[in-house]
Amino acid sequence: MSDTVSFGYEDVSPEEKTARVGGVFRNVASRYDLMNDAMSGGMHRLWKDRFVRRVKPRADEAILDMAGGTGDVAFRLAVSGAQVTVADINPAMLDVGVARAAKRGVTGLIWTEQNAETLTFPDRSFDAYTIAFGIRNVTDIPAALKEAHRVLRRGGRFYCLEFSTTQWPGFKEVYDAYSHTVVPRLGRMLAGDSDSYRYLVESIRRFPDMDRFEAMVGEAGFVRTSVEPLLGGLVAIHSGWKI
Ligand code: SAM
Repeated sequence: MSDTVSFGYEDVSPEEKTARVGGVFRNVASRYDLMNDAMSGGMHRLWKDRFVRRVKPRADEAILDMAGGTGDVAFRLAVSGAQVTVADINPAMLDVGVARAAKRGVTGLIWTEQNAETLTFPDRSFDAYTIAFGIRNVTDIPAALKEAHRVLRRGGRFYCLEFSTTQWPGFKEVYDAYSHTVVPRLGRMLAGDSDSYRYLVESIRRFPDMDRFEAMVGEAGFVRTSVEPLLGGLVAIHSGWKI
């Protein structure tokens, strides 16, 4: 990994990025779900529904939902009866997730604190690996992709939902204006924290484009990689197979 990595628009040391991303999610954890609805007009729910339909979870599968945060994707996966493990580096996000699961009566999920770059699971533990809006926050993305490949069984599937770059003419300008002005303001009003939301917007801009990220998934060892753009590429679902 290079000497510096991006933290939003800043270039910082890898250690500083990990610490500052930790601070962001510690700060936003209690308001995270409210803010997701406010910022996306509820659209993140549709993207996550689509994402889980792509995964096609089955009752006899073990699935790792990495950077699972407050459980949104895991709750959807668990409807299939699959054994779902929710892993995240941030205990504050996991605590909110555990409380949400209890409130909804969702049982049987495994919640575990893990760094995506250095997973503690044995090789070939899972049938599918999902990561939604998580990978751009990881400091060493190639290391996390390699770990995803390691913990999947042969025939295992990798799925990543992440913001990307919309190709729709005109939409990009509107979206830029919205995300750079409205989102930090919403962050201040609803979560009392504009800086964390400024980071979240900036980190989207620094994330590799669809082609580059698809290549990175391939470099980690996945085959038959593909990408499905949503809203012209504002959001993208990447996938690949371990053989
Ligand atoms: N997947 C959830 C969702 O879609 O609502 C949460 C996404 S949230 C934007 C990003 C999550 O990535 C946070 O919970 C954060 O703690 C987690 N994260 C960041 N770096 C990580 C790492 N290195 N390993 C594991 N989780 C990480």
